Amino acid sequence: MNFRDSEFVKGMLIDEGFSLVNSAEGADVILFNSCSVRKHAEDRLISNIADLKGLKKRRPQLIIGLMGCTAQNHKEKMIDKLPMLDFVCGPGNEAQIPGLLEDILKNRCPIIAVDKVNEKRPELFPEYRDEKFKAFVSIGEGCNNFCSYCIVPYVRGTERSRKAADIIREVKGLAARGFKEVTLLGQNVNSYRGIGDRVKGKGFARLLEEIDKIKGIERIRFMTSHPKDASMELFKAIRDLEKVCEHLHLPMQSGSDRILKMMNRNYTANKYLKLAEDYRKFVPEGSITTDIIVGFPSESRKDFEDTLRIMKRVKFDSAFMFKYSPRPPAKSARLKDDVPQDEKEERLEALLRLQCDISLEKNEPIKGKILEILVDGSNEKFPKDVTGRTRTNKVTVFEADRSLIGKLVNVRIASITPHALKGRIV
Ligand code: SAH
Ligand code: SF4
Repeated sequence: MNFRDSEFVKGMLIDEGFSLVNSAEGADVILFNSCSVRKHAEDRLISNIADLKGLKKRRPQLIIGLMGCTAQNHKEKMIDKLPMLDFVCGPGNEAQIPGLLEDILKNRCPIIAVDKVNEKRPELFPEYRDEKFKAFVSIGEGCNNFCSYCIVPYVRGTERSRKAADIIREVKGLAARGFKEVTLLGQNVNSYRGIGDRVKGKGFARLLEEIDKIKGIERIRFMTSHPKDASMELFKAIRDLEKVCEHLHLPMQSGSDRILKMMNRNYTANKYLKLAEDYRKFVPEGSITTDIIVGFPSESRKDFEDTLRIMKRVKFDSAFMFKYSPRPPAKSARLKDDVPQDEKEERLEALLRLQCDISLEKNEPIKGKILEILVDGSNEKFPKDVTGRTRTNKVTVFEADRSLIGKLVNVRIASITPHALKGRIV
């Protein structure tokens, strides 16, 4: 989401006549985009901005701005803490950034723009994209779920679906410019309400159907699905629509019913298991990935073992795993953060080890198969190799010329690791 927001702001500024430079030293304006989902991200941000103190002293005309969720969360307190900042701007106000820069140039006085947390972003379409063949497309903003640990609904506001016609127009425009892959973005794509009727999961499946018809687009991905709203309609769409990739990111968060209840997730571990089974019935070759939090307040050894047990049963292809951190004003921040830091570390390590074994086991049967890969990059260290992704979103490395970046190729998988496949073009 932040990647797309940064691109949006860069696009607006380029349309205003600004251009991108490669280093902070060469810039007249430096913008930080910020995430506040975990405390660690905020701490790093603060130290990165503080590092610019010397530069700002040498060049007082330099404009430094902070956008994103941390701006929205701490508002003017960020300027009190970091006086080198010229403005803070929340996600809902980002369309105003060109105007803010003009005001600062005129008045040189700090600006706080955080009043539009629940407003829809205007349908401005800067052409600019960071990449040439794959693109993120936002289908909505905000979230209504209020998971007890999560700050997102407070800093990105309540859920607003973007109109299907606007999304389709954007994707058609991308296809006309040669883009092959789109990733549809929303905090909870399954509750998308911008098309069709209001039956659970139907709106998003309908949107997928429409995007599947767009000529030129070869792959459609989406993030993120909340288990409480994932539906058979969605699984059918993944099975039946040619371009929709066979990958589902379905954050589980915990395998303990007690913790899931405290997290306000609205499902049980068994319900999650059943969903994963249903998905696999519809899409047997599909991959499934997840997010897990360890060390939520009061999480006991037994709760954690429930998580391990469910992970062993679902067998995720991969997982993002996090140590809990309290994020006020999210509700769980009122609870005592009582799992000791070293215990959180230990649980995270155990989870990582288990997931590593499972990923290896899941990748093993892929050996010898020929898979379609969208080539997306290269590695300076291995200049003969390129990287790409399978439809199931697995990173694949193979020897090929960089001119293939942006193209679809077939690769026979020769070996595997937990985190990547290796092969040869056929
Ligand atoms: N809307 C998406 C993404 C939310 S943020 C979703 O619902 O899945 C991405 C992930 O960060 C979450 O899935 C969760 O695992 C993690 N996360 C959120 N708040 C957290 C917190 N306070 N501490 C640790 N991890 C957190
Ligand atoms: Fe946060 Fe839950 Fe909304 Fe995801 S669904 S953004 S975790 S409140």
